[in-house]
Amino acid sequence: MRLLFIFLDGVGLGVDDPDINPFARVEMPFLQSLLGGKKLLANSAPYVGERATLLPLDAALGVNGLPQSATGQAVLLTGINIPQKIGEHYGPKPNPAVAKYLLNGNLFSQVIKAGKTAALLNAYPPRYFDAVDSGKRLYSAIPLAVTTAGLSLFDKDDYYAGRALSADFTGYGWRGMLGFPDAPVYEPHAAGDKLAELANQYDFSFFEYWASDYAGHKQDMNWAIEQFKTFDDVLRGLLDQWDDQHGLILITSDHGNMEDLSTRRHTDAKVPGLLIGSSEARAAFASELNDLMGIYQRILKAISP
Ligand SMILES: [Zn+2]
Repeated sequence: MRLLFIFLDGVGLGVDDPDINPFARVEMPFLQSLLGGKKLLANSAPYVGERATLLPLDAALGVNGLPQSATGQAVLLTGINIPQKIGEHYGPKPNPAVAKYLLNGNLFSQVIKAGKTAALLNAYPPRYFDAVDSGKRLYSAIPLAVTTAGLSLFDKDDYYAGRALSADFTGYGWRGMLGFPDAPVYEPHAAGDKLAELANQYDFSFFEYWASDYAGHKQDMNWAIEQFKTFDDVLRGLLDQWDDQHGLILITSDHGNMEDLSTRRHTDAKVPGLLIGSSEARAAFASELNDLMGIYQRILKAISP
């Protein structure tokens, strides 16, 4: 069975308060239809529906302080309680202590070792590679895991050729922020179609969405709402093309942030573990899954039963 992992940075399950939680305010008709009319909130989980399961997952893992991106992502990618091992939640980029675990083996390298195919579906712009090459920029945990597995990160040529997707789904960021006026763009539903088309080419594919964490740090309610209106249409496009009998979709996060705009810091909220697929595949994955550590083994098992 193939597995598509959509990683939403900094998205927790928060309270039903539209003053602080964009998920309480935004209408996501497609996601809500998957969740029996409920919104992506703490009091909606756990939920098991016809096509989707929503679990609350612990991201704090018994370690004091607020969960951070390097350790949170590294837990997802290794199944090891790295914050406990190093004595703290650490981020945003891996320090040597965190990197050591990712270099030792991770989801991408294990999938490749099992003789399966894997890809990180994000396209990175030239300025990203320039900054990494010049030493100005450290890899975050996910690209570090990908390159450790011997896989390449997709670049501008891949994006233009339709082999990868923009980090904002639609590609308008390539035209505006990145300065490529001729970059391909997709309306959200078409971006979801594209995501399905790409994910169907691999046993394991991963898409990283980081703007949610950014909106949380900026405490930007309007931006947060616009992002998840877009995401709802992407999800609809994706699921219009998705075959539940052959693939499972996992949507989760590394820590809370955007669900509580009363603070610009991360939160210790549970994060959503949203599974979309056949009831059998979802039940197997969700069984006794309580925290971020449990994701790793379940992904490997879903891909190579
Ligand atoms: Zn953050």
